[in-house]
Amino acid sequence: MGSNRGPNRHTARKNDARALATRTGMPYQAALRQVTQNNERREPRHRWLLTDDVRAWFAGEGWRGVGYPNLYDWLDAIRPTYDCDWCGEPGDARTVDSSIVLLVTAYDPDLSPTTAHIGTRTHHAACQPSAIQWLQRADIPSGPQAIALPASAKPEVVGEFELTTRAVLTTGHNDEDGDWDQAMLLITARVIDDHNLGARPWMSELELSMRAAGFGHADSVLSTRETDWTLRIVTDHPSTLAPQWIALRTGRPEGGTPDHLVLCALDLPAAWVAAARRDGRVAVVIGPCTAHWDFTDVPGELVYELDDRIDEPGPDAHCGCAALTAEHVSDLLDEGAYVVGLVEVAPEEAVP
Ligand SMILES: [Zn+2]
Ligand SMILES: [Zn+2]
Repeated sequence: MGSNRGPNRHTARKNDARALATRTGMPYQAALRQVTQNNERREPRHRWLLTDDVRAWFAGEGWRGVGYPNLYDWLDAIRPTYDCDWCGEPGDARTVDSSIVLLVTAYDPDLSPTTAHIGTRTHHAACQPSAIQWLQRADIPSGPQAIALPASAKPEVVGEFELTTRAVLTTGHNDEDGDWDQAMLLITARVIDDHNLGARPWMSELELSMRAAGFGHADSVLSTRETDWTLRIVTDHPSTLAPQWIALRTGRPEGGTPDHLVLCALDLPAAWVAAARRDGRVAVVIGPCTAHWDFTDVPGELVYELDDRIDEPGPDAHCGCAALTAEHVSDLLDEGAYVVGLVEVAPEEAVP
């Protein structure tokens, strides 16, 4: 925070205000007012007993993606009478020591980039102390993820796809590097609403949009094609129900929720995670579900080899993508049937 006296004080305040404005999107002047008022100890008009964590929140600590006006003013303006949310009996902050609990969505860069104050509880101070209650979004979707893609020539027509994601570790050996491995994220797409146009044009649309994002043909998964997408790998989230999940971000907007191609729970083998973190990159491979292999340039040997493990391709075929190994994926890339891009692994963030 810097010194509270002398000329440094003003610089420190300006720096704090700039940091607050960046974190919350508040205008600089509003952030400066907020930082300045933090230096004054203020008591609520009524008998609301505030704890240190509530005072810290009022001061702007922990705000992300949103700024609040003076919260002491807000507290002074709320109705002092209440039914205690703990014991159900009436209370009055003008005459009885009382407490407030603010329900705030916990910050997460992908699930909840904004610390939104979505509710308030009031209590007798004798029943419950004042607090900030962080709400975590615990439901991470699993299984195939639905996405919609507008047709490039006719954006009002939107095709629907189901994406199935798997973590695949590809390994190999060469004279230069000896044994090597690379983390691959295999995403197979199945068209589920084709507007009676058939699946083929929609798969072409998907491939087009991937190329526009920097994905492309490659002779191997060691391709150096890069995209500006990033992949967040979560292996031990403290509070979501799924301990392991990924968020594949297709853009990095300033503040705001990143756009995701997929955000889902996923089995992440330890060796895969180690390779991804070591390299700081993952090869994201995208291509058609085996059900669409009737119009995909799949090598003949591959079709022959997988013959008894996947359904005959066609509209009614079951997804056979689980049978694909790292070698199969390499063959599909060699053939240009699937596209690949190197996606940077997002740095791990401390989640409060
Ligand atoms: Zn009570
Ligand atoms: Zn499939």
